Order: sequence, then C-alpha cells, then structure tokens
Amino acid sequence: MGDRLTRRAIAAQWLAASSMGAAAPFLTFDAAQAQLLPATPSCGADQAATIAQTEGPFFKSTTPLKRNFRSDAQGEGFTLIGFVVDRRCRPIAGALVDLWHADAQGAYDNSGYRLRGHQLTDAQGRYVFETIAPGLYPGRTRHYHVKAQAPGGRVLTTQLYFPDEPGNRRDGIFDRRLLMKVENAADGKVGRFDFVLNVA
Ligand code: FE
Repeated sequence: MGDRLTRRAIAAQWLAASSMGAAAPFLTFDAAQAQLLPATPSCGADQAATIAQTEGPFFKSTTPLKRNFRSDAQGEGFTLIGFVVDRRCRPIAGALVDLWHADAQGAYDNSGYRLRGHQLTDAQGRYVFETIAPGLYPGRTRHYHVKAQAPGGRVLTTQLYFPDEPGNRRDGIFDRRLLMKVENAADGKVGRFDFVLNVA
C-alpha cells in the first residue's frame, strides 16, 4: 500500500491524463486509486443510459461556472470526477454538468450559490468537482444532485449516492445504479461516476 495522494494531486493527474490520452500519468497512483481512475469510461458498447431521479425542492437555475466549491463551506474534502459519454460509450465534449448539494450540516444554500455550480466537460468528456461530502438531512440518505446535458441534448436530472452509507437502505429514492466508486485520498475522498446520456 503506497502513500495516498492528496485530492489536488489526483485531480491534476486526472486532467493531465485527459490531454495526454494515456494511462501513463497514473503510474504514481496506489492500487486503489489506479482502479478508481482508469483513463477510459466504465461502460461498454451498448450501455444503458444513466437513470433519472427527482430534482428535489432545492434546485436553482443559472448556477455559476465553478468547479471548486471548497471556499463555499467547511467539511470533509470530496473530489468528484468522471466522464460524460453516450450510449455507445463515446465521450461527449462540452457537456454541461451542474452539481448542487447540502452542506456538512445538511442545509442547502437557497439564497446564494454556495455548493452550487456547473462546468463543461473537456475534449475527452471529463469533469472534476472539488467540494465536500454533503451532510444528512431528515428523510434522505447522503446524496449529490446533478444535471447533465450533451450540447443540444435533453437534460438528465439525477442524484449520486455513497457506497456503504447506512441510510441507503432506508431511502425510498436511493438506487444502487447511481452509486459512486469512492476511494480515500490523503486529505479526504475521491468519487468516480460516469454519466451515460441518451443522445443520438
Ligand atoms: Fe437533496
């Protein structure tokens, strides 16, 4: 077991790989992180599209272009990474990924845009958010809210879940198809989820 990298180092390697297009940049990863961060999407030739879920009561439109939420709130550092691909597993460049979630106390910012932001995938269809793990609030297990949209395509609204979370079994909305792969970094956690969009 090697020394764990910081989330910043992992995110930098993730983005560097996208411009180099090879697995070589992952040589310094320990085994768990290398498994989390393969430079290819985790899907096959005829992939089921990522399922939709309710947007919930706290969505706000016109979020800022923002991938780093760390100055928005205190909490356990969490880096969310992945691809946006089509159903043939081809990466989609310029796809919108909009993330919003509760703070560590389980509260949403409904007056401003703390812990809310969107970005566009890079030329290899990748996104990275630097944020915190959301807290729990009554009635729900731990989750992120996401909207994803290919250029000119329909908006997918869904949620992402945490493995080994006790509340998953008690949450009627939870769906295991929306579980992230999560690994420990030196200073928090890194979660991977690849979105599959139903585009022509
Ligand atoms: Fe929520």
